[in-house]
Amino acid sequence: MSPQFGSLNDPSPWYKAGLEHIWLPYAQMKRVNPPAAVVRTCGSRIELADGRELIDGIAAWWTACHGYNHPYIRNAVERQLATMPHVMFGGLAHEPAFTLAQRLASALPGDLNYVFFSESGSVAVEVAIKMAVQFWQNRGLTKRTKLIGFRGAYHGDTTGAMALCDFATGMHGQFAAFLPDHYHLDLPEDEKRAAILLQCLERHGDELAGIIIEPLVQGAGGMLFHSPEVLRRLRATADRFELLLIFDEIFTGFGRTGTMFACEAAGVVPDIICLSKALTAGTLPLAATVARRKVFDAFWSDNPSHAFMHGPTYMANALACSAANASLDLFEREPRLAQIETIAAALECGLAPCRESRRVRDVRVKGAIGVVELKTIEDLEALRRRFIEEGVFIRPFGTIIYLTPSFTISEEELSALTGSVCKVLGVS
Ligand code: PLP
Repeated sequence: MSPQFGSLNDPSPWYKAGLEHIWLPYAQMKRVNPPAAVVRTCGSRIELADGRELIDGIAAWWTACHGYNHPYIRNAVERQLATMPHVMFGGLAHEPAFTLAQRLASALPGDLNYVFFSESGSVAVEVAIKMAVQFWQNRGLTKRTKLIGFRGAYHGDTTGAMALCDFATGMHGQFAAFLPDHYHLDLPEDEKRAAILLQCLERHGDELAGIIIEPLVQGAGGMLFHSPEVLRRLRATADRFELLLIFDEIFTGFGRTGTMFACEAAGVVPDIICLSKALTAGTLPLAATVARRKVFDAFWSDNPSHAFMHGPTYMANALACSAANASLDLFEREPRLAQIETIAAALECGLAPCRESRRVRDVRVKGAIGVVELKTIEDLEALRRRFIEEGVFIRPFGTIIYLTPSFTISEEELSALTGSVCKVLGVS
């Protein structure tokens, strides 16, 4: 009963032996392509076990913002490994985590100053949801347990996060009956939709804890872009109805949309922000949920039941925090935001020919995100295989082909990526 693992590049004994036992992510195991065996990564290159090299268009699910295996980050992690890989965070403290908390607080706008560490994006969202609900409980408003989420949203694969994904595009529709109940609305991009949001708030305001959104770009739900105005509108609405505004910047944080954090482009400070992915630049798992003063204050109490009861075993892992501090050093020392601007221009130019294809519905670019939306993709696995045959790693989903390269990618490598998209669509 093993999947049809033909052979993409499986010369190694470990590959054959392990394949029988691996359950792959987001995959129908009966039909999925055999995964390409990787032996080394460097910069924007992935070296396969059979000797081929792929140019990477995805940056390890949007994490490897400075490219793979950056020597500065590697050295920082190696130094930390030699002294203390991990220590529990209950009752003990360490420099990498405390330094990182202080640096995140100063990098984030406004009084987003209280940093709660966890180890994955989904858990960072769970933490944000719990904070929002308990914020009201601690004030005696126990009915405020629901959130407003948006169509097109994706917030992760754990229970609370799944409940706020779009059930149509967010992969978890089959669990709808089992998940906590929230409100799923269209983004208030025009007056009509803004009025529907308002109506929902007027009717259900007393059972609502907050609003959650991926600011500027809804990623895994379809790489959908919206304007900063939507975020300003949500801030004003949340203020009017005294709701907490949560920004899930797990994808957009650390430069991806052109500013260090997407909220900066709108001049909006959310009440809670979720960070992960590029936080450690693709080296180790780490996430942070950062709250504003007023959120933190609602937990500051002599009443033990007002405490925030959460504490993952690997919370604030020292190796991961040292990687994150090194990544922030690189953002400070190297011209990442300028590189992202150059990448945006190259994506615009390199993907423009795709507009000629009748198969294409839309081509759009924001920061270091390039999207070609097709009318349909008949055979996703075949398309993924085709890109590997072209010498690039690009992983389409739904009807989307997208590029989210590392910010250090060379002009030639980026041109090879956009060129391969054009070639595969028959427009080069
Ligand atoms: N939120 C957003 C916006 C994401 O894009 C993702 C992952 O793609 C998550 C949450 C979940 O993060 P993780 O996969 O680390 O649990």
